Amino acid sequence: MELNTQSDWVARSLRSVWHPCTQMQHHETIPLIPVSRGKGAWLYDHEGRRYLDAISSWWVNLFGHANPRINAALKDQLDTLEHAMLAGFTHEPVIELSEKLSALTGHVLGHSFYASDGASAVEIALKMSFHSWRNNGHADKQEFVCLKGSYHGETIGALAVTDVALFKDAYGPLLRASQTVMSPDWRAAADGETPQDVARRAAAHVERLFLERGDKIAAIIIEPLVQCATGMAMHDPLYLQLVRALCDQHKVHLILDEIAVGCGRTGTFFACEQAGVWPDFLCLSKGISGGYLPLSLVMTRDAIYQAFYSNDVTRGFLHSHSYTGNPLACRAALATLQIFEEDGILNANRVKAARLTKALQPLAQHEQVRNFRQRGMIWAFDAIDAPQDFSRRFFATATEHELLMRPIGATVYMMPPYLLSDEEIDGLAANTLAVFNQVMAG
Ligand SMILES: *Cc1c(COP(=O)(O)O)cnc(C)c1O
Repeated sequence: MELNTQSDWVARSLRSVWHPCTQMQHHETIPLIPVSRGKGAWLYDHEGRRYLDAISSWWVNLFGHANPRINAALKDQLDTLEHAMLAGFTHEPVIELSEKLSALTGHVLGHSFYASDGASAVEIALKMSFHSWRNNGHADKQEFVCLKGSYHGETIGALAVTDVALFKDAYGPLLRASQTVMSPDWRAAADGETPQDVARRAAAHVERLFLERGDKIAAIIIEPLVQCATGMAMHDPLYLQLVRALCDQHKVHLILDEIAVGCGRTGTFFACEQAGVWPDFLCLSKGISGGYLPLSLVMTRDAIYQAFYSNDVTRGFLHSHSYTGNPLACRAALATLQIFEEDGILNANRVKAARLTKALQPLAQHEQVRNFRQRGMIWAFDAIDAPQDFSRRFFATATEHELLMRPIGATVYMMPPYLLSDEEIDGLAANTLAVFNQVMAG
């Protein structure tokens, strides 16, 4: 059947597919790789070359490609119920998933609202926060606060709380204004300052803003522990504790965007567990379906849910998507959560993480590297005096070393799936070093 060659697929894709986050003209020099299949941590092209998916296909894949257990669950679900609308109807996968997630928060976040992508989850959290304040007689609370370097998705509402210069420059005129506060990124530490000191300094910035206009602010939105898209900027959990206390004090909602850092990525199932705090809204997507199907959700407290509970339609939460709570996606999520439980993934990851950190020491100590950092299953470091086009060159060179990696600017990072063997871990470290040296040599 397969008459097309690798280069046929490339040509056809470039003729008809508009790729995301891509200046399409760059594909005149940067390879476009048609994937024919995936297995475990590997993606295979049409010429039999393979690529270790060291960034989990944009941070979504947790237990490998074509995972037999998730596949089996989906095949069963496919023959049972592929989809039913979630207004007026409900079904087993969405109920079980909501119950399981609630239990994972000790039932603090007792209700889950569903969508399909991360940006929509962020929009839902923003709308819910605003609307619940209004339902409670605080209609003036209409503003949102985000962090310097924040990333919460690329729809117009989510972009309004995203601080990426490239996007702001392009789409600024379309966006609602929001307040931006200092990032607690520990790389901002002055001489003699600890990451906790940076956390305190950043929280003081939040406090000043809340004192000034807390009565106008509905919510602050934060990626807890690691601001991923800005370049894996990591902060001390103390920051989350301090901001939680400020939110309570000034009656501002705390939205934690765990779309990238949730699902075990930072070492605990939810990143906020490491600070011992719960938000008012928690957004999940990416890894929750194991990287199989588009699924996102917002978990919230019963007090927020109650603010909408009434016989008045206009006090209800006004939001829906056609595929809300899709049974196949929920079933993939249930299979994913089952693997966490059955295989003791959080513990197993600690062992894998220690091995990869050790294997990466030549890079951590490299004279052209600074700020080597790790949290859970995220590693990152910054190249010193990176050459022009570092990121694109790194990507292209990595493909020649059986690696899928896409640095963010001069920041090289890894977010591998949670199933690497010792051999794969050691190969990942050795190949990353080889690619780095080759790209830095120009
Ligand atoms: C990826 C991401 C989003 C957006 O999710 P999409 O599914 O791409 O819309 C939002 N927030 C964070 C922290 C993310 O990493």
